[in-house]
Amino acid sequence: LLPPLKVAVTGAAGQIGYALVMRIASGELLGKDQLIELNLIETEAGMSPLSGVMMELEDGAFPLLSKVSATSNLNEGFGDIDYALLVGASPRGPGMERKDLMAANAKIFAEQGKALNESAGINSKILVVGNPANTNALVASENAPDMWPEQFIAMTRLDQSRAKGLVAEKANVPVKDVDRVIIWGNHSATQYPDLSHARIGGKWAKSIITDDKWIRNDFIPRVQKRGAEVIDARGASSAASAASAAIDTIRDIHLGSPEQWLSNAIPSDGSYGIADGIWYSVPTVCEGDSHYRRVKNLPIDEYSAKMMNATEKELIEERDSVRHLLPG
Ligand code: NDP
Repeated sequence: LLPPLKVAVTGAAGQIGYALVMRIASGELLGKDQLIELNLIETEAGMSPLSGVMMELEDGAFPLLSKVSATSNLNEGFGDIDYALLVGASPRGPGMERKDLMAANAKIFAEQGKALNESAGINSKILVVGNPANTNALVASENAPDMWPEQFIAMTRLDQSRAKGLVAEKANVPVKDVDRVIIWGNHSATQYPDLSHARIGGKWAKSIITDDKWIRNDFIPRVQKRGAEVIDARGASSAASAASAAIDTIRDIHLGSPEQWLSNAIPSDGSYGIADGIWYSVPTVCEGDSHYRRVKNLPIDEYSAKMMNATEKELIEERDSVRHLLPG
């Protein structure tokens, strides 16, 4: 067995956290030969439910779990970690406007960025799940000046998996036959799920799904609003699939999945004409050992450009609304 790697999870007693920590402990995050130390982080109010989660982890008797700790102290929780999954975020309260949620979360993620800067392992990778994930990643990174912006990733893998699922259903093929589906931009209703480069069983998806109207009027809005569809059916927000996507993201970054295009929101470098300094979802290739690179120079048609600009515009507005928390 490989010597332990340290993984921190914030919001560990929440819905997503609950589904997430069991799967991390069972070895699905970093591989079945990798020992794990788990640092569970919660607010003061979350410490009591978290103690129940700790008990359940103990009762799972997971052979790969060499240590578990629980804390509300960020520096302690992020001490020397290899990976952090930032799930905890302020919930959308009744009557709360998007900008109120943005401000409440920006404060949380500014603090977390500072603590990561002081305490996290030098090569750590940080996955932001808590919403608004892209802008939270920006705020955390800006408050962690000694870390590379590329160490922070905001999750859009769930959107990509949702999109792949809908394509597989439409084409009546297993989901494993669908690849190169891209999510561009924000993890919000402005995201652009793009099939221009997608393949089904190795063939260009658009030669199989020829109905552009279905793509524009059904597929895209359905991916954008899939979260709401799950809430309506389940009476609670999607937690297991969000946890699953977080596991997929980090597993692929850690172990590599070089043959796939994986959507991740990463700091823009100007590619595709997207403004610098926002966390914008693009296709990436994960080479393993914690390295990833963006897929560059894809041809972008007029419709895609319009959709990509709309989600860019929203991210710029989000950044502008939290400027007071960006030290740079
Ligand atoms: P969840 O575990 O359901 O959600 C946590 C965050 O993930 C939310 O911001 C949620 O956004 C987001 N999210 C991203 N993708 C999805 C998805 N597909 N489905 C649902 N949510 C998604 O929230 P809980 O309220 O159950 O748990 C949050 C926990 O975080 C609480 O226990 C709280 O105490 C803790 N917390 C911890 C902090 C810390 O450790 N410092 C700080 C703040 C809170 P959305 O709201 O849009 O659904």
